[in-house]
Amino acid sequence: MKYLSTRGGVDAVEFSTVLLEGLAPDGGLYVPAHIPTVTKPTLQAWRSLSYAELATEILSLYFTDIPKHDLAQLCQKTYTAEIFGSAQIVPLKPIDEHISLVGLSEGPTLAFKDMAMQLLGNLFEYVLLKQHRELNILGATSGDTGSAAEYALKGKKGLRVFMLSPQGRMSAFQRAQMYSLDEDNIFNIAVKGVFDECQDIVKALAGDIDFKKKYHLGAVNSINFARIAAQIVYYFWAWLRATQHEDQQVSFTVPSGNFGNILAGHYARQMGLPIHHLVLATNENNVLEEFFNTGVYRPRASEQTYATSSPSMDISKASNFERFVFDLFEQDPNSVKQLWTQLQTQGYFDLSSKQAAFEQAFGFVAGTSSHTERLAVIKETYEQHGVLIDPHTADGVNVARHFSQPNIPMLVLETALPAKFSETIQEAIGQPAPRPAALENIEQLPQHVMELECDVDIVKDFIQQHIGEN
Ligand SMILES: *Cc1c(COP(=O)(O)O)cnc(C)c1O
Repeated sequence: MKYLSTRGGVDAVEFSTVLLEGLAPDGGLYVPAHIPTVTKPTLQAWRSLSYAELATEILSLYFTDIPKHDLAQLCQKTYTAEIFGSAQIVPLKPIDEHISLVGLSEGPTLAFKDMAMQLLGNLFEYVLLKQHRELNILGATSGDTGSAAEYALKGKKGLRVFMLSPQGRMSAFQRAQMYSLDEDNIFNIAVKGVFDECQDIVKALAGDIDFKKKYHLGAVNSINFARIAAQIVYYFWAWLRATQHEDQQVSFTVPSGNFGNILAGHYARQMGLPIHHLVLATNENNVLEEFFNTGVYRPRASEQTYATSSPSMDISKASNFERFVFDLFEQDPNSVKQLWTQLQTQGYFDLSSKQAAFEQAFGFVAGTSSHTERLAVIKETYEQHGVLIDPHTADGVNVARHFSQPNIPMLVLETALPAKFSETIQEAIGQPAPRPAALENIEQLPQHVMELECDVDIVKDFIQQHIGEN
């Protein structure tokens, strides 16, 4: 399998390059040169596989420059009961006779990002060792991504993590999760600023070509195709658990922000998995919902992005969306380039002429959810069905109810556990969410964090000082 850029400006590359580079050098996103398909008999044969075995089969179609037996070892090492809480790795949890949750948040940081990030940690270590290289991951986080990355990369050979977070802007639990890590290769940097300013520092340093080269800087953000590929696996897993026959369809509802999670569902569907609808759920930041219902894509500025009670979806520019548009235009990079130029000059583009294809060809439909609805759904799901869900998953369940159809199981991706967002749970049901025993006193643990001024050169100095020390 070779990989191309959505903007057509680079030669085809192997998977390992995609893994280490993240973004394509022409500013586009790496995409597989073709989507591999899976036949019905193969699907049937996969019913008996463990999660790690299924991951090996699916990912070997994409990671073709890694020998399959090595990939099998990496998957076995990643998807274990110790890391994901049970041998199932991803349990299906029914809410009622129509809707089930896909349990993607049983990993170390209680959010679905662990599913891909844990594999990424092992892939990085493997490829770097083979190429005798090292990599320094530089990132900015407002919560979930940073902790998922740190728990996946801690202790890994050849890797260091420099993670910027906005000082005083994360929940006490999120801070404790990241800062309590005591690892030689993890550097938490609390910047005196907001998330966007952290992000700007990362962009400035990653854009400094000499610095980037000299210090082997890399990224783990959700545009990395390795993360998308790892997420394809659980769509197959959930379908295999929810159906008996090879032609049976299911629908998925996906609480969405950067369009990474649902994009993996799009690839699963293109590969031949019988998916009826891919239901995109947003919160009040409904740029993507607007696109699927009107055809107009109009990203918003960060000042126009609401701070909501499902904060990990507070995104108004969905980085992965470009990959879907590439498919909408039958893999034509010139159309993508033109549209993104238009985005820069006009601030929007209008694809309403293609709107019929969103659902008919690709299965996409979309809905949105408000704070009031979110709280009501958490309360109702808890009181009527005895299942406690987090605010992001609640956005999913709320939208899923509008699209649920008889005889088609509706599977809602559980993107986080309620323990992570206990303040909102308290507001919805009048009591806090229970916490896994291992995290009971996490706020009391000593914290390891460096507080720095919001300044590119100060952060740059800190990184230089700490590379080569360990
Ligand atoms: C990251 C995240 C999302 C959004 O996922 P995307 O892949 O960015 O669409 C939704 N819910 C939670 C809890 C998250 O951490």
